[in-house]
Amino acid sequence: MKCPFCGGQNLDHVLETRTLNDGASIKRRRECEGCSRRFTTIEDIEELQLFVVKTDNRREPFDRSKIIHGMQLSCTGRKNISSSALDEAAQDIERTLYNRLEKEVNSREIGEMVMERLKSIDAVAYVRFASVYQQFEDAEQFKAIVNLLGKRSARKPSAG
Ligand SMILES: [Zn+2]
Repeated sequence: MKCPFCGGQNLDHVLETRTLNDGASIKRRRECEGCSRRFTTIEDIEELQLFVVKTDNRREPFDRSKIIHGMQLSCTGRKNISSSALDEAAQDIERTLYNRLEKEVNSREIGEMVMERLKSIDAVAYVRFASVYQQFEDAEQFKAIVNLLGKRSARKPSAG
């Protein structure tokens, strides 16, 4: 921080810190260690609203509930999936995205993150979600998933 009196840099220490505007700004009272004069600084916290860029290039504010809704649709009829598992997955995705400190994310990328998590929650939900997003990248990947499903349904007795 440059002292407004002597121009010294990085030589101040903070005497007092206060939040302003309901925490949107921080006011600090500083003392220059070069000339011992005091000054205040106000820091605005950058508002980070994450936007989702859709495939048609429209942008809309990030909304965690949409992720949950998408996962719920894929999980329709699947009895062993707890809603808290979906909530946690959505929270995890949200946290990951916000921690990148970028202002935009492609909807495709969110789709991939959701798939990654659904994969470990429920294979059927994963395939449903993936087919909606058309995210199978190659035939091998698709085969691996079909095999996985085959193993699961093989455990159930056939319904005749
Ligand atoms: Zn100074």
